[in-house]
Amino acid sequence: MTDLMVEGLPLWFFKVFALLIGAAFGSFANVVIYRVPLGRSVVRPGSSCPGCGHEIAWYENIPIASWLFLRARCSSCGTRISIRYPLIELMTAVLSLACMMLGIAAVPGLELTAARLVLLWFFPFALCFLTVCIVFIDFEHWIIPHPLTAAGIVLGIASSVVLAPPLGDVHWYESLIGAAAGALPIIAIIEIYFRLTGREGMGYGDVMLMAMAGAWFGYLALPFILLASSIQGLLGAIPAVVSKNRPVPPWEGAEAAEADATDAEPADATAPDGSAIHVDRPAAEAGELRHLALPFGPFIGLAMIEWLFFGDLVTTWFFG
Ligand SMILES: [Zn+2]
Repeated sequence: MTDLMVEGLPLWFFKVFALLIGAAFGSFANVVIYRVPLGRSVVRPGSSCPGCGHEIAWYENIPIASWLFLRARCSSCGTRISIRYPLIELMTAVLSLACMMLGIAAVPGLELTAARLVLLWFFPFALCFLTVCIVFIDFEHWIIPHPLTAAGIVLGIASSVVLAPPLGDVHWYESLIGAAAGALPIIAIIEIYFRLTGREGMGYGDVMLMAMAGAWFGYLALPFILLASSIQGLLGAIPAVVSKNRPVPPWEGAEAAEADATDAEPADATAPDGSAIHVDRPAAEAGELRHLALPFGPFIGLAMIEWLFFGDLVTTWFFG
């Protein structure tokens, strides 16, 4: 059974480690998703109930378990706690475990040390964590905060250096070219769409997210990511377009309320410490139909996760 041990530790130890760390980071992802779009610190203060301000004790903050034993309600005022919180914790935990499995399967022929395994887990998991945060923020607010994608680009390049082949799949130059090559098509789409319609279809948050994808996976992954995100985006948009309750970006709802607020440009939000939170999509003019039915970031994120876990399959399928 020696092949099931890494430096005297059984593989299940690494899998349980990945699940627990993943769940804890899922809890942190909830904080990021809730606070970053509001321009609030993700570090302090500690979490409190949005209903009554009750400070959440450590035992009320255990990923997944607390939501279950609190029966989805604040212990103080009974405000419902959305099922989104435990679901994001579960999703992040499962992605973390999957990243550990990727690491375990990664390098046939190379000796698998504990340090190597942790690195092979860490970088893909960091990507998954940032992607979960970005996807849910964009889904809800139609923005992609630049600090998250910037961190993703830096980590992607770092990953190509630390996990240089044969340990990883991406050379550092593929990562650098990928970051630039990911951004360019989206910039082109934005410019062309703007010239044709006078509106912006996608935003510079999407540009940064594609740059992040290119930095992580190298430019060779970009055709798949562009294609898969576009196809899935179109499929996802069908129910939204057909539906009478078409989803609208948060700022459009606010504008409709101030019936004749003309030419309202969205002021970039300002964090309490004065730093700007860049909002990457412009407001549509009041009453104007929105050109995109959905934010595009979640579909780029989905395609990234697909490429991370199934990229090898896709490559084999296409190129034999
Ligand atoms: Zn409460």
